Amino acid sequence: MLVAGHIGFSWLIGKLINRYGLRGKWLTNRLWILLLGALFPDMIDKPLGLIIHNGRAICHTLLLFGLLLVFTVWWTIKNKRPTWTIFTFGWLMHLLLDRIWLSANTFFWPLYGPFAVYAHQWFFWRIILDPATYIPELIGSAIIVLMLIFRSKRAT
Ligand SMILES: [Zn+2]
Repeated sequence: MLVAGHIGFSWLIGKLINRYGLRGKWLTNRLWILLLGALFPDMIDKPLGLIIHNGRAICHTLLLFGLLLVFTVWWTIKNKRPTWTIFTFGWLMHLLLDRIWLSANTFFWPLYGPFAVYAHQWFFWRIILDPATYIPELIGSAIIVLMLIFRSKRAT
């Protein structure tokens, strides 16, 4: 999944949890934190992937997510503010939407050895030709448009 998919689905899931799960307006003014968390793993690993030839690396591992989770629990208990919880939730959404369990070599790194190395892929052709890539991006884009429309209608 790429940018539009991660933003759209994470925004929708966060909104649904905010509306029907956790009460209060914990997400209302902190949406950018959720979206930052949802994009952060790719913001680090995609550029890194240009060097190691795998766009899913350290930020897609259970090891780093576990460390982040421990830090988040500690920080949240200490400060009683949801900032890192929302960021970590966005990161979790990213891993789930990437279906990271299908890349056990990456997710459980370093248990299975180094990150896999992939041959150069025609990234933009993959976006256009691979339905597993472009369909989630189209749906994510539609969600973003709908969320922006609902948001602007509520503001007026
Ligand atoms: Zn990713």
